[in-house]
Amino acid sequence: MSGLVLKDITKSFGNFTAVDTANLSVPHGKFVCLLGPSGCGKTTLLRMIAGLEDPSSGAILLDGTDITPVPTHKRNLGMVFQSLALFPHLTVGDNIAYPLRIRGASREEQKKRSDELLKLIHLPGFADRPVAKLSGGQRQRVAIARALALSPKLFLLDEPLSALDAKLREAMQVELRQLQQRLGITTFVVTHDQREAMTMADLVVVMGNGKILQAAPPIDIYRKPADAFVADFIGMTNLLDAEVDRAGRVSVLGQAIAGLTIPEGLTKASVSIRPEDVHLGSVGGDAISGTVTFVRDLGGTIETFVETGGKTIIAVATPRERPDVKAGQQVGVTLPAQSCVVLKS
Ligand code: ATP
Repeated sequence: MSGLVLKDITKSFGNFTAVDTANLSVPHGKFVCLLGPSGCGKTTLLRMIAGLEDPSSGAILLDGTDITPVPTHKRNLGMVFQSLALFPHLTVGDNIAYPLRIRGASREEQKKRSDELLKLIHLPGFADRPVAKLSGGQRQRVAIARALALSPKLFLLDEPLSALDAKLREAMQVELRQLQQRLGITTFVVTHDQREAMTMADLVVVMGNGKILQAAPPIDIYRKPADAFVADFIGMTNLLDAEVDRAGRVSVLGQAIAGLTIPEGLTKASVSIRPEDVHLGSVGGDAISGTVTFVRDLGGTIETFVETGGKTIIAVATPRERPDVKAGQQVGVTLPAQSCVVLKS
């Protein structure tokens, strides 16, 4: 296959397995986010793709060729790390052109390429500025431009935006994604921020304890998480214990969910349902009764917290859909079967 393939990649440090039998196929031009909690092996996986770390076993293939033994500088990749590692004593232009200078490119070639890249990162005319005088977001863009100077085939970034404040970070996520789309370059970004991954990625790779738990487009990760860990990590979901009777009927919080079945062989399960899919209505009928404990009115959306059977369920709606729910009120909660995802717990 063309693109990047990880085949049974494992990395152990002594007795500890940091990455465990990772398998992944990424076609050319895709934006991949490696997502997971601290210590789950994201950076180690990225470093193996970069050739900065040798896998203990397994192979990395690029366009069908085994690149596992190929050293970093021959892999044709650009890298950006959280620290950025810009040269503070050089100008913006010289920082960007640095990789070309190392390769012996002429002064004119360096200038031409750095001017091209400065346009690409929306900083035209910044070539002669000292790096020390740039803002955080501008430095970030310069580091990105420098990594792209040699037109790499693979672009690898480790938590590139984590030092930026929330607003700038969100803007840079969009900018980075647009830049990647313009260039069509296969990109891997390590992040522990699910929102960041959802914003940028074609393919989100969720990791936990060294394993790839799910690799799928963002909307599939959101709508169809592979297991309870993924659902919980992606966040903003209601994760509820499911009970199954002998006939295979599933109930949640003591209420049977009509039409919901559990995969054969699964005895213990959870049900994940997104807050926007939870319906609130009047008490009675098939609804689960609960008490509203808190209402968070965010203007565009209203989050309603409902306590039932010792669990809190969150329901999200627009103000038009849910005009006047108040704390203390009794409500009926309905979990539509088609919105419930049954997961291994
Ligand atoms: P974070 O988000 O905190 O950066 P991560 O998911 O990127 O975490 P890694 O940096 O890949 O995680 O580390 C995975 C595990 O491997 C951690 O428990 C870490 O301590 C361990 N580890 C990483 N590098 C080494 C090393 N050189 N020697 C020993 N253990 C290591």
